[in-house]
Amino acid sequence: MILKLLIFAIVAALIYKFFGGRFPKIGRSPHQKKLDQDTLVECTKCSTYVTVKESIIVRGKYYCSKECAA
Ligand SMILES: [Zn+2]
Repeated sequence: MILKLLIFAIVAALIYKFFGGRFPKIGRSPHQKKLDQDTLVECTKCSTYVTVKESIIVRGKYYCSKECAA
């Protein structure tokens, strides 16, 4: 009985450790990727602000639309 509990505790600790290292990335992340996605960038051509998520990046420059990127 005690052994069973001990094994359970070890398994639980391993699971906790596993998720502990991973959850911050999957959930709300203070990491770059999430931050970048919502960061506003200025269109190189027409100066319209768009989020990185919606922007088009051509040769390291941000554009609001295909028309501007062309
Ligand atoms: Zn533009």
